[in-house]
Amino acid sequence: MVADAVEEKREIINRYRRLLRKAKPVLKEGDAKLIKRAFTIAMEAHKNMRRKSGEPYIFHPLSVAEICVEEIGLGTTSIVSALLHDVVEDTDIQLSDIERTFGKKITKIVDGLTKIRGVFEYGTSAQAENFRKMLFTLSEDVRVILIKLADRLHNMRTLDSMPRNKQLRVSSETIYLYAPLAHRLGLNAIKTELEDLYLRFTDYPTYRDIANKIDETKTSRNRFIKQFVQPIKDELDLLKVECEIKSRPKSIFSIFNKMRKQNIPFEEVYDLFAIRVIIDTPVDQEKNFCWQVYSIVTDYYTPNPDRLRDWISTPKGNGYESLHTTVMAKNGQWVEVQIRTKRMDEIAEKGYAAHWKYKDNTAKYESNLEKWLVRVRETLEKQDLTALEFVDDFRGNLFNEEVFVFTPKGELKTLPKGASALDFAFEIHTDIGAKCIGAKVNQKLVPINHVLKNGDQIEILTSSKQKPNEDWLRFVISPKAKAKIKDLLKEDRRKVAEDGKEILLRKLRQMKLDANSQLFEQMRDYFKVSSQLELLYKFGKNIITVNDLKKFQEYKPTHSARNQSQVETPGVNEIEEQIKSKGRQEDTLLIGEDMDVVEYKLAKCCTPIPGDEVFGFVTVSEGIKIHRTNCPNAPELLANHGNRVIKAKWTSQHEVAFLTGLKVVGTDRVGLINDVSKVISEELKVNMSSLSFRTDPGIFNGEIMLYVNDTRHLETLISKLEKVEGVEQVSRFDSRGEKAI
Ligand code: MN
Repeated sequence: MVADAVEEKREIINRYRRLLRKAKPVLKEGDAKLIKRAFTIAMEAHKNMRRKSGEPYIFHPLSVAEICVEEIGLGTTSIVSALLHDVVEDTDIQLSDIERTFGKKITKIVDGLTKIRGVFEYGTSAQAENFRKMLFTLSEDVRVILIKLADRLHNMRTLDSMPRNKQLRVSSETIYLYAPLAHRLGLNAIKTELEDLYLRFTDYPTYRDIANKIDETKTSRNRFIKQFVQPIKDELDLLKVECEIKSRPKSIFSIFNKMRKQNIPFEEVYDLFAIRVIIDTPVDQEKNFCWQVYSIVTDYYTPNPDRLRDWISTPKGNGYESLHTTVMAKNGQWVEVQIRTKRMDEIAEKGYAAHWKYKDNTAKYESNLEKWLVRVRETLEKQDLTALEFVDDFRGNLFNEEVFVFTPKGELKTLPKGASALDFAFEIHTDIGAKCIGAKVNQKLVPINHVLKNGDQIEILTSSKQKPNEDWLRFVISPKAKAKIKDLLKEDRRKVAEDGKEILLRKLRQMKLDANSQLFEQMRDYFKVSSQLELLYKFGKNIITVNDLKKFQEYKPTHSARNQSQVETPGVNEIEEQIKSKGRQEDTLLIGEDMDVVEYKLAKCCTPIPGDEVFGFVTVSEGIKIHRTNCPNAPELLANHGNRVIKAKWTSQHEVAFLTGLKVVGTDRVGLINDVSKVISEELKVNMSSLSFRTDPGIFNGEIMLYVNDTRHLETLISKLEKVEGVEQVSRFDSRGEKAI
């Protein structure tokens, strides 16, 4: 044996011993023997193999086993399975060989790992389908998923030696599936590391930049933190509460994510770090003590009442327990303080299994581990919706603008978020879109405007009788579908117009009218259509009937001046006289009362509501319109048509609801729309008439039309909306593009 080989052999043995040492606290009698047997088989099976880095292959299964023990807290079954996880795929060893030596349980796990391995490594872009398959393996043993996570973590840690395209593929898959999975299972440390590695391999300059900046700001940050925590520490010392106060900066990835989402530079990420107060208390007094710490913290620093999160009373779905508050430091900076016990902290970082590992005796550990695995399984199986709903929170944050869905054959399609079944149909093929009558989403029948969610599998239902109509334009959001529908509608209109032309020309002949351009001009005018095509289309559709045409013929000889058909509004003086004739001293129009005297409407350009300062404007043909004095059209109306202005004010008696519009601007976050509509509908019993919104990168822009009683009512609502997390600005909006005169 050459020296290098001897050295290598020694290193392998060292690593194996390290694994045993770490596993020792949880090993039962006979376990060490089992692990040794698995190690021997794996080493023999992989002996001629090397990783891309040149290392002996056995380093990999050894590391995966170590992660299982140390970072996830798994036991012997998982260690053995991890050591064997690549042998069936890569070597001559068969599952039956494993079953003979290690029994059914381990064989099933290795089998599961082998299956998803193939799918994951060689799948193209259909990750979500793979993901679903991975969930199926749950029925075997949930350990499969945990070991797979360890496997992926090690592969990510050693991704350096892989070719670039593989780095990108493995990284994307990691951020898409494994990081959310780790999050879901409460394995925070692993989740964070996977995310950071993802960024490192997909966007190294950014990764390095953020890492450097975190490093550069370290000294000043530490100084600040030291000052901040001192009084808290002193108080806790007085109370003789054992505590540890740490501060860890946000992960590189979450800083990156925040910068991108809010479109801000590193310097503007205000919550770069959180301060964690970890106390050591008996389990039955945890809650009590945590709130006591809260009380101390908020004695020194003013808390933001909206940022209190109590995950002790109601832990998060993944088991996370902690008490969070955001307080104002003396320098005017908001600082998040997380209060928790040692137990909670360990669970938060490593998940349940790791926490139990060193705490209890082996027997108790074993039973706790089983309990946790059941829990993990329940967590995963709770996905009665779609397999991918799971990664939705996460994906929602990261790729806000896309939704990932599947064809019945499992082909991945990417559509803009908010896309409907109809969008999907057009994405497949124009003919399928044009004939779409509905869809089956995850086997359930839905209408064509059904909005798709990540992971949906869609089968489009078509009918040869189906035809697109104008409504369809409201059902789709993808540019492709929109354009296609417009084309189809245009084509359809042209066909209808052709039919219409035939009908019209025939009728005109019967009526002995000369179909010249002047006649068409007159018809366009009379029927109030904007183009010849529209005129013909309306004939084709029978919107303009033969009867209408006859009326036109009767009308035609006198049809010289325009607008003759319209009734003119009485003049200002006339109106004022009428108001006065009701026995009132003043000539002010009372909105809500004088309807009997003169017809008036609330202007749509500024949607006035009681409490607004208003005036009436006498239009030529549409009666009086009530505008706000600060209406965008008001300057023009008051300055140029002062003679048509009439004083107006609100009557106070009537409890009527008025339509008005609010513009809500904020930072985009999951659930914002929900929270906003909740405030509107639940808290104030206001009726919402419509809600539209768009999201630019990181920015939420909503327009809400709603009914309120008066300005006071509206102001209460605005101030409530301003308190919704993420909302930056709420304002009443004016112009809806209507002409004022
Ligand atoms: Mn592997």
